[in-house]
Amino acid sequence: MISVQKAHQYINKNCFSNPVVIKKLSDAINFYLAESVISSINMPPFNQSAMDGYALHLHEDNNYLIVNEVKAGDHHTPILKKGEAVRIFTGAPVPETANAVIMQEKTTVTNNKLALITTILENTNIRPFGEQIKKGAIALKKGTKLTAAGIGYLASLGTTEVAVYKKPSIAIISTGNELITPGEKLGEGKIYESNSIMLQTALKSIHYTDSTVYKVKDDYNSTYDLLKKVINKHDLVLISGGISVGDYDFVGKALKEIEVEEIFYKVKQKPGKPLFFGKKENTLIFALPGNPAAALTCFYVYVQFALQKMIGKQIDHLTFDTAKSLSAFKKKGDRAQFLKAILTSDTISILEGQSSAMQQTFALANALVFLPQDINSVAIGDTVKLIKLPV
Ligand code: AMP
Ligand code: MG
Repeated sequence: MISVQKAHQYINKNCFSNPVVIKKLSDAINFYLAESVISSINMPPFNQSAMDGYALHLHEDNNYLIVNEVKAGDHHTPILKKGEAVRIFTGAPVPETANAVIMQEKTTVTNNKLALITTILENTNIRPFGEQIKKGAIALKKGTKLTAAGIGYLASLGTTEVAVYKKPSIAIISTGNELITPGEKLGEGKIYESNSIMLQTALKSIHYTDSTVYKVKDDYNSTYDLLKKVINKHDLVLISGGISVGDYDFVGKALKEIEVEEIFYKVKQKPGKPLFFGKKENTLIFALPGNPAAALTCFYVYVQFALQKMIGKQIDHLTFDTAKSLSAFKKKGDRAQFLKAILTSDTISILEGQSSAMQQTFALANALVFLPQDINSVAIGDTVKLIKLPV
C-alpha cells in the first residue's frame, strides 16, 4: 500500500499529454496552449486615442484652433501645425503630428476655438503603437489555460485558431449486479446506480464533456470483454466498483488478463483504499472503489490531477489550500484521510457522516480536508490542508 503523495508521484510520472489539435479560438475555452501564440501584429496597430477629446500639436499657449475631426475607424491623418487641434474620439488614430490628447471635459469650445482648462503633458492619453505587444513577440506562452479574457486577447491580435492538447475521450464503467438505473423499479436487494451519473457530472463540472457510460454485471467474461473493448477505444477509463477483494470483484483479474500495467493498487487513505491505477498503451485506467463517496474522493484527488496532466497543465504534485478548522476531529487508524467539509472564506467545518457510502454528506460539502498519515487529530483553530471542490 502506498501513500497519497507516492500515488501522485506515480500518476505524475505515468501521465502523458494528449495529442495536439488545432481548435477554433471560439471553442478553446479551458484548453491549455500546446504552443506559444506569437503576435502577428503590433497592438495597438497605430497610435490610438484613449479619450473622447482633442488631439493637439502642443504649443506654449492654452488656446488652439480646431482644424479637423478623426473618428474611430478613420484612416485619414490630418497634418497639424503647432497650436492646432483635431476633434478626436476614443480608439481613433492620433494624427502623427499631434503629441497629446486632452479629454473633452477639460476644455471649452467656441466655434472652432479650443481653450484648455488644464495644462497637458506630451503623450497624454495616447496609447502608443505596439504598447501592448509588438509583432513577433509571445502573446501567450505554451501551457497557458485559455480563459474568456485570454481568448478575447488572442482575438484582438487576429488569432482564429490555437494549438491545444486534445481533451481525452473518457469511458465510465459501472460494475455491479445490484445496480438498477434510476427510473426503473427497485427490486429486492437492489440499489439505484448513481456512480456513473456522478462521475460524468463531475467531469462536466471541470469541462470534460467527451465521456461515455458503460454498465456491466459482476461476471468475469462480460467484464473482460467490455474492458478490452473500452480500453482500445478511449484515452481514459474510469471503472466504478469490482476492484476490492470480494469473490465477485472481477475488475482486477480482467485488467491483469488484458495486460494492463499496474502502476499502483491500494493507497493508504480513507476513503478510497482499493484504488487501482494502470495503463495500457496510450490509455490510462483508474479503477475506483464502488462506494460512492470513496469513488468521488478518488476522482477529485487523483483523476482530476491526471486529467490536468493529460491536457497540458504544468503541475507535478497536488496543491492544497489551507483554512482554520472550526471543528475538532479524531482519526481512527493510521491512514491519511479526506474529510467532507464546508469551507467559508478562511474557515472550514468538518461534516458529520464521513462513511464512504454517505452521499448526503458529500452533497453538502464544498471542500475535502486532507489529514496526512502523520496527523492524528484536528483541534478547533488548527490550520488544515484542503482541496476545494468545483461548485
Ligand atoms: P464494490 O466496490 O463493487 O464492492 O462496491 C462497494 C459498494 O458501493 C457497494 O455497496 C455497492 O453496492 C456500491 N456501489 C458500487 N457501484 C455503485 C454504483 N455505480 N452506484 C451506486 N453504488 C454503487
Ligand atoms: Mg461491486
